[in-house]
Amino acid sequence: MRIPRISLCVFLFLPVLFAFGQNNDAKLDHFNPHMEDKSINPCDDFYKYACNKWIAANPIPADQVYWSTGSGLELWNDNILRETLEASSKNDSKRTAAQQKIGDYWAACMDESAIDAAGVKPLQAELDRIAGLQSKQEITLEIARLHRLFPAAWEQSDNQTNAPFFGFTGQQDYDDASMVVAQIDQGGLSLPSRDYYIKTDAKTVETLKKYHSHIRKMLVLAGESETQADADASTVIKMENGMAQAQMDNVKRRDPKNINNRMTLAQLQELTPSIQWDAYLKAVSAPSSDHYIVTSPDFLRAEEKLLEQHPLEHWKVYMRWQLLHLAAPYLNKAIEDENFNFFYQTLAGQEEQLSRWRRCVHMADRDLGEALGQAYVDRAFPPESKARTLEMVHAIENAMHSDIETVSWMTPATKEQAIIKLKGIEDKIGYPSHWRDYSSVKITRDSYVDNVEDATTFEFERWVGKIGKPVDRSEWTMTPPTINAYYDPQLNTINFPAGILQPPYFDRNMDDAVNYGAIGMVIGHELTHGFDDQGRKFDAKGNLRDWWTAEDAKQYDERGKCISNEYTEEVPEAGPGVKQNGLLTQGEDTADNGGIHLALMALDADLKRQGKSLDDKGPDGWTYLQQFFLGNAYSWCSSIRPEVARLIVTTNPHSLPVFRIDNVVSNMPEFARAFDCKAGQKMVRANACRVW
Ligand SMILES: [Zn+2]
Repeated sequence: MRIPRISLCVFLFLPVLFAFGQNNDAKLDHFNPHMEDKSINPCDDFYKYACNKWIAANPIPADQVYWSTGSGLELWNDNILRETLEASSKNDSKRTAAQQKIGDYWAACMDESAIDAAGVKPLQAELDRIAGLQSKQEITLEIARLHRLFPAAWEQSDNQTNAPFFGFTGQQDYDDASMVVAQIDQGGLSLPSRDYYIKTDAKTVETLKKYHSHIRKMLVLAGESETQADADASTVIKMENGMAQAQMDNVKRRDPKNINNRMTLAQLQELTPSIQWDAYLKAVSAPSSDHYIVTSPDFLRAEEKLLEQHPLEHWKVYMRWQLLHLAAPYLNKAIEDENFNFFYQTLAGQEEQLSRWRRCVHMADRDLGEALGQAYVDRAFPPESKARTLEMVHAIENAMHSDIETVSWMTPATKEQAIIKLKGIEDKIGYPSHWRDYSSVKITRDSYVDNVEDATTFEFERWVGKIGKPVDRSEWTMTPPTINAYYDPQLNTINFPAGILQPPYFDRNMDDAVNYGAIGMVIGHELTHGFDDQGRKFDAKGNLRDWWTAEDAKQYDERGKCISNEYTEEVPEAGPGVKQNGLLTQGEDTADNGGIHLALMALDADLKRQGKSLDDKGPDGWTYLQQFFLGNAYSWCSSIRPEVARLIVTTNPHSLPVFRIDNVVSNMPEFARAFDCKAGQKMVRANACRVW
């Protein structure tokens, strides 16, 4: 998942780190209208009513941290990709250039004995280079090298860029969305967010202790003595902690105004005299930029202090660790296992590692995704699917149009602007209009880690190469088989990869009511992001520009506050005392609530056109309205390990599935009507929230 800019809002909540499913027996999960738990009153807990039976019948497999009705699709997609990769890996002179790349990538990734035999040797030249640095001045060029070698200098998460020292990439300008400028982002950590370093509760302290022991073990595996590794682990944590302290927190970071800090190159140089920016920019082949966006000046200020305070030896330790950490998933079994033990088992609760073939499928999708994605589209996404989902998108856009026209709290002037923005949204369905050319990426069967490095350099340079140029509107930041969707506020596009336009989200054999409840809600969700608490700050062209009257903005904020208050609550699924911050999840929660409303409006309009009503009974014995809500909940039925639930609640802007159903339906009079719920019951909220 390449997310080059911060405000992209993905629908599913799991970081790419966690993938699902060992079992080779791929089975798509189709909506089952007879799965309700009759012992539960739907008006008390709709999620349990709709999902209990599914959850009981589908425990989380050992190699998973999360298991849902969408997990069968994940495996189904992986199997298709595997068949494509295996067929392409046969050494056949008739292979196309793209088949050679994906096929040899696959062969090298699956060759565990060659990877084991190589050990850390593939890193030796880089380790020697780091060891040989003579002065702190030379650190700059080493940063540039590390950024080009491994993901993810350009990959931003909700918290930071996961690259050593800082992130660097081409980014659409916030003030002129038609152009790409250079952006420097906060980064430098190995743990998922600053909270993991700076919180002082018992759980955090314990995790940090385990992190220390993990670094020590990794350095020993790379050849250090126990004593040295122990001391080095303390140094690494000290340096990363220094960077974590200065990072902007993830709530403040949600507001694009806070990260849109323009600087000239001279100002950037003045902010961080220890980094030779001219040398860095030359080393990463960055074209000149009109200005530089520094997402968090405080972070760079602190990094400068750290660069001044710490001796070169400490930085060598930090860089050695970062190199080893970033390369770990592509190295020998002992190192890969230790990486799994800490980052997946300890941090996320995953008991067993995903099978090799699935890891290789996911890496090939990440590194050569558009070469691999073409075959996926050919096999799994027929034109009928594209046509029918596009029809739903148009119907839901029409619903948003009438919603904007009819809301009581907005003045005509702002409504007019909102409709201009809505009309400006471009719909991207399934796959890109033209495919990426990977011909300059060197892929061989000889070395997996070399292939990853080469693909990373290609992708890094591709993003950096955009600096100073007009924006490419056709760009996708998800590959076609991805089970996810996003709204891009700066391109003003909604994007639905072919991977999610499959059961249980979109099912060609299901009634419209079920599809509107499942994928329709996703479509409405992404559309609503254009008008959530952050998305509303961008205009139709993707510029960060305030098009709201002061009174309308105030009205909006009041409604937004209702949502953020509602979602600020204890989350027992994530452990005792863990509380969700509704300000972090406000945008996603607004999109969940708005999304389902819009999908329901669209279904209602469709049924009316056919002379039917939401309250008519469909073939399953449910009314269409009931079917809609059941289809929606079914697509979210899931179990989650507490470790990963805690990680999500503390770092991720999406709410857990149970809240994505129960909080949403409790805000809707239509739900009460569907299941005949009465005031006072849990799914009928006295203080119901509604933005869109
Ligand atoms: Zn979202």
